[in-house]
Amino acid sequence: MENNKELEQLIDAACDAKTKAYCPYSNFRVGAALLGEDGKIYTGCNVENGSYGLTICAERTAYTKAVSEGCKKFKTLVVTTDVTDRFITPCGACRQFGVEFGNFDVYCVKPNKTDKFQTTSLNLLPGSFTPNDLEAPKTNQ
Ligand SMILES: [Zn+2]
Repeated sequence: MENNKELEQLIDAACDAKTKAYCPYSNFRVGAALLGEDGKIYTGCNVENGSYGLTICAERTAYTKAVSEGCKKFKTLVVTTDVTDRFITPCGACRQFGVEFGNFDVYCVKPNKTDKFQTTSLNLLPGSFTPNDLEAPKTNQ
């Protein structure tokens, strides 16, 4: 991402989304902000459920909000938590969810908003299964 102001705006949006997390079981708040190629910011927080397997992560909340509003191409994802001593990266499910939409910048940001780990959606999931794999030559043998 070239534009620092845009990144700061995304970090603020992710931190704000984190305050909306519904996480009574883990007490692990996560906020995400996704910049679409349409220029809009789609935010998400984790939403837990008493039936634990139904919990959805902040990142997937943001992706589904974006797609449901017509945006399927992304420039940048920012993820933030309350953890101060390390960078928290998206879980495996969210990594797979991300590469579905191609390669884009991913920033994992500490609560102080200044410490950042920069990577990309494809770097987070090397050797990933992507929609292109569905088009690969196949045999029935
Ligand atoms: Zn996740």
